[in-house]
Amino acid sequence: MARPQAKAARPTPRSAPRFVYAFGAGRTDGRAGMKELLGGKGANLAEMSRLGLPVPPGFTISTAVCTYYYAHGRTYPPALRAQVSDGLARVERALGRRFGDPANPLLVSVRSGARASMPGMMDTILNLGLNDRTVEGLIAQSGNARFAYDSYRRFVQMYGDVVLGLKPETKEEEDPFEVVLQAKKRARGVTLDTELDADALRELVAEFKALIRTRRGVDFPEEPQEQLWGAIGAVFGSWMNERAIVYRRLNEIPESWGTAVTVQAMVFGNMGPDSGTGVAFTRDAATGENVFYGEFLMNAQGEDVVAGTRTPLPLAELERENAAAYAELGKVRRTLERHYRDMMDIEFTIQQRRLYMLQCRVGKRTAFAAIRIAGDMVRERLISTDEAVLRVEPEQLNQLLRPIFDDGEKRAAVAERRQVARGLNAGPGAASGRVVFHADDAIAGAERGQPVILVRIETSPEDIGGMNAAQGILTARGGMTSHAALVARQMGKVCVAGCEPLEIDYRAREMRVAGRDLVIKEGDYLSLDGSTGEVFIGQIATTPSEVVRVLVDRSLAPADAPVYQLYAQLMKWADKARRLGVRANADQPDQCANAIAFGAEGVGLCRTEHMFFGEGKIEPVRAMILATTADERRAALAKLLPLQRADFDGIFREMGARPVTIRTLDPPLHEFLPQDEAGQREVADSLGMPLERVKARVAALHEFNPMLGFRGCRLGIVYPEITEMQARAIFEAAANVRRDGIRVEPEIMIPLVGHVKELERQADVVRRVAGEVMRETETRFRYLVGTMIEVPRGALTAHEIARVAEFFSFGTNDLTQTALGVSRDDAGRFLVPYVAEFAIYEHDPFESVDREGVGELMRIALEKGRRTSPKLKIGICGEHGGDPATIAFCDELGLDYVSCSPFRVPIARLAAARAALRRV
Ligand code: ADP
Ligand code: MG
Ligand code: MG
Repeated sequence: MARPQAKAARPTPRSAPRFVYAFGAGRTDGRAGMKELLGGKGANLAEMSRLGLPVPPGFTISTAVCTYYYAHGRTYPPALRAQVSDGLARVERALGRRFGDPANPLLVSVRSGARASMPGMMDTILNLGLNDRTVEGLIAQSGNARFAYDSYRRFVQMYGDVVLGLKPETKEEEDPFEVVLQAKKRARGVTLDTELDADALRELVAEFKALIRTRRGVDFPEEPQEQLWGAIGAVFGSWMNERAIVYRRLNEIPESWGTAVTVQAMVFGNMGPDSGTGVAFTRDAATGENVFYGEFLMNAQGEDVVAGTRTPLPLAELERENAAAYAELGKVRRTLERHYRDMMDIEFTIQQRRLYMLQCRVGKRTAFAAIRIAGDMVRERLISTDEAVLRVEPEQLNQLLRPIFDDGEKRAAVAERRQVARGLNAGPGAASGRVVFHADDAIAGAERGQPVILVRIETSPEDIGGMNAAQGILTARGGMTSHAALVARQMGKVCVAGCEPLEIDYRAREMRVAGRDLVIKEGDYLSLDGSTGEVFIGQIATTPSEVVRVLVDRSLAPADAPVYQLYAQLMKWADKARRLGVRANADQPDQCANAIAFGAEGVGLCRTEHMFFGEGKIEPVRAMILATTADERRAALAKLLPLQRADFDGIFREMGARPVTIRTLDPPLHEFLPQDEAGQREVADSLGMPLERVKARVAALHEFNPMLGFRGCRLGIVYPEITEMQARAIFEAAANVRRDGIRVEPEIMIPLVGHVKELERQADVVRRVAGEVMRETETRFRYLVGTMIEVPRGALTAHEIARVAEFFSFGTNDLTQTALGVSRDDAGRFLVPYVAEFAIYEHDPFESVDREGVGELMRIALEKGRRTSPKLKIGICGEHGGDPATIAFCDELGLDYVSCSPFRVPIARLAAARAALRRV
């Protein structure tokens, strides 16, 4: 058959499409770029053959056949049989052996391989083609009966399992073949498989076959062609096995991709002490160190290395066993790295001192290894700095920022059964501390210098102080975008959310774990692994992240921090490549300092209401809410003014010349009042008013749907004095700071605007106050007034709003709620199955922006806004601003910046760079 590119020149003998792609022994049809068709394994075997590496010849049946197979009731395209025969005949000619020939048999492996690697998820069969006659031929070929029967018993075992379905039927049952094998070893008085002689192995073949007959009611097929097609069918069938389906779901691999099947001539690592098999990484996959790292076993085949029955040896020892093979493997390592320009994961086999390559793929690695390898490869001139940026997944950076549990200690905790439950890995990192159930206890604990873990059924804005004081946060309810998860990410806190098995009793100050006879009391130690969601009893020692020690704690000098240096270098390359600006959502000076340390270029969202929960502020806020007249309200606001001004002063000084976007009051007022009687009595006492009045006000503020209620700019329009006070606090602080020679440019942002008239009214207040403050303080400062685009009407009328707004910022949390008509706080019950089970949305729309719906509103708003005002500054400040997929979308749309929590700023910088590089 002709190669694809030669088709025009030479007529192909058949008109049927090509399903079979040859590799090795003089002709290779595929290449690395053909993973869609040949799967990763098939494509890379072809590529290695092209590179002239020693690959046993074979052919790959394409994924198109898998698609056909499932579309046609598990049958094959008619042209396949002839193409497989041709492929096999070519291998036979190349090796001078025939498939099924009793005198000189060719044996093959039948291997699965999807586009994305699915390690161990599908099945491979080795030594196919053996039967009672061809085994004699293999003995004649090799002069080694023990080897021949070892191969035969492995084949019957694998075929019996994978194709004929003889597997353990319950979790408790041992592998039936292993039971027979163990019995044989016992009968022969040996412990290792390798100690069984040819006779014992021949008996095993017969016993395995008998076992298959009694347990499965079928005869083991002696006919090699029948074996081959049985194996091919089993590999295609394995695409739909339970394990593969679950793996695909977890890794977001589409079912439609299908698997390819590779049929390849066998080479034998079990031919004696001068043969073996192994796996290796061309660099250390954990640390990234440029050392050859791997394991091997002599006199072994295939899975023996990972099966754990015999302990494999470190690769370095291969040099002693077989210096020539080791040297050749070193050459292969260099060839592959130069060619793929990446760290590779390889499988090899040595047959009687000769090296063969059986697989290669780009190696999986930790974040530490990823940045180190990328940096080293730039220096080695293998890749450009842009490529280095593309080599590190943004989310991986989390690993570099979080404190981590000491590996040995964590393993010990697992061994001691101290793992009690598992929730969502909402805030990565590791934390140990004493359990408290109330925010004020967390604060008190922290003041005593005690590490605490704040455990709540769920958290609310009132808990912020306690969350800030805690080492880690654990909640029983709520998802990845719950209040606890959101705040934890902004604070950079370790958080395990939605840990359903916890039964928390606030009154008794204790919790139980469903299904375990266990009570955890206040003061007991608990450890959270926020990267995995695991919860442990007791303490586990942690190691702080180098990057955080250098940037945030300043307890480590950059020169003493190799990981930090690699991080800093990567970020420099990323900053060079990105177009989008990156800001942070920060409400306090310390958060601003963190944001700057992580490279934020401004504050994209300062939520003024978070300040209200600070020291001494909640009382005047409550007095303001409980006021019945405008005068009373003004008096309360007057008390609040200096406190807010001080907050902004601190933020401006921290941020210097960087822009700071401040949102005016947004949440519904009832959030600032206690809902329980005891709390209400406290408020009444402290403000010297009757309890009844507090109760009546709380009742009056009750809303059926607060998310769509009296909140956002609606508050400032009905009570303009609130906006007035906030604007005054901002501008007075700006004037103060300006007088100290610091250039500030506050951006006042009005929330929840749907109609231009709403913005007009609020902008009038803000601009009037700005003028007043400039006159009173005799200073001039620049400022902007803009709006959030977070309700559909605002997006659809953006051309009108842009007449007044000097900037837009997409509030994609609310925009998602209002566009989808979904209340985030009530969405858990259906949104989880919507994504996981019904695939209605590909991702949780509160984590990654729904491009077709919410994204379309963003596009409309951007286009209409910029039509009115071409230079309109546009950003995003919803939680989505830290999501790499959303960042790529914002880059595509042409936003000016994204804003996210401080600890996600490095991730956003990297994601923005990768988006820009991918677009060109
Ligand atoms: P997986 O995808 O599970 O790694 P593979 O197809 O790579 O499955 O095969 C499993 C094992 O068998 C690997 O160790 C591989 O190197 C080995 N193997 C596969 N094909 C051959 C062959 N033709 N000769 C020798 N060993 C092979
Ligand atoms: Mg493999
Ligand atoms: Mg909002």
